[in-house]
Amino acid sequence: MKRNPFFSQLSPRFLFTEIKARVARFQDKNPEKKLISLGRGDTTEPLGSSVTQSLLSAASDMNDKHRYTGYGPPQGMEALREKIASVLYHNLVTPDEIFISDGTKCDIGRINVLFGPQAHIAVQEPSYPVYADAARMNRSAETTTFSYLPHSPPDLEMVPQGAVIFLCSPNNPTGDVLTGADLRSLVQTARQRGQFIIFDTAYRSFIRGNFPRSIYEVPEAQKVAIELGSFSKMAGFSGLRLGWTVIPHALKYDDGSSVHQDFIRLMTTVFNGASILSQKAGIQALSEEGQRECSQQCSVYQENTQLLQTAFLKKGVFVSGGLHTPYLWVPTGSKSSWDAFDYYLEKAGLIVTPGIGFGPSGDHYIRVSGLGPPSLVREAAARIDLMNL
Ligand code: PLP
Repeated sequence: MKRNPFFSQLSPRFLFTEIKARVARFQDKNPEKKLISLGRGDTTEPLGSSVTQSLLSAASDMNDKHRYTGYGPPQGMEALREKIASVLYHNLVTPDEIFISDGTKCDIGRINVLFGPQAHIAVQEPSYPVYADAARMNRSAETTTFSYLPHSPPDLEMVPQGAVIFLCSPNNPTGDVLTGADLRSLVQTARQRGQFIIFDTAYRSFIRGNFPRSIYEVPEAQKVAIELGSFSKMAGFSGLRLGWTVIPHALKYDDGSSVHQDFIRLMTTVFNGASILSQKAGIQALSEEGQRECSQQCSVYQENTQLLQTAFLKKGVFVSGGLHTPYLWVPTGSKSSWDAFDYYLEKAGLIVTPGIGFGPSGDHYIRVSGLGPPSLVREAAARIDLMNL
């Protein structure tokens, strides 16, 4: 069997293996040292009670001869799509334009199949590394070309006509959020240049103030944009798995054919629906009570992140992010991001994420996450206070 040649284009998943190895080496030499992780990209707060209750009741339905269900509807449960359309989009999109999935990462992988091997892909720099890797897995290096855009605000004039552009707002890792004016100009340029925008809103529930939560708040966005949404950070479903993709009916290829139709074809071929348990829990998470529970989880991470931000500011380190994401993007001056990683580990027993993991422009940064338990975050902030930064 010959290896799929596209896989040789990928760099090895060096970041997390290397973090693990460096932490293990340090812990071997310093077994008494209590380490705290500020490198988390995963949630830690438990699910809300009403969401948990809905899961238990969905599980018990599965044990009942009359209430048992097998495969769900191909696009996802109607009640969930209606809730997403009304609660999260205020009916800017219709339930029929929403496809329920097992999460945004999986949808990023599948979406790549929609665009042919010749597609030009553009990603922000720095950004979530999955966009570029998923694109590379599906295409040969000879035919695929990439553009790397500044993270905020990206300039689509720099990207060839007909390109597919992955944007994330608020951005992981920088925390930048695109304004209404940014989005209006992006949509306008994308329309003029025949480009598609894939808009990742995984951190939408962290946005504070009057910034768009969806690209569809901007007129004409339906003609150029696909939107990805996730219950992972919004409702703590990173283990349960639930997300969605919006494919507007107005989105058409150059030849006038419907992207929506192709996406139905794709999803019904390679995906058999998100877990019914997750979907029922998702419906509850979008109820008034569920939304209160979600915003309580979110506040815990926001308070954590603020505490860490204050600790850095007290040291005169001007971090970005922290307001619209649970992450801080911390400059490390002359230290490379790996040297900074070692420094935080050795001096304070703190595990951070080297910025280089999000692209070359992240090299003199680290990402610090507020997604941990508050007691540990408080201790971490106290350790930062004692560091020489
Ligand atoms: N998009 C971004 C920008 C992320 O940072 C993450 C997770 O860290 C995801 C998507 C993954 O979302 P999901 O858990 O829905 O697959």
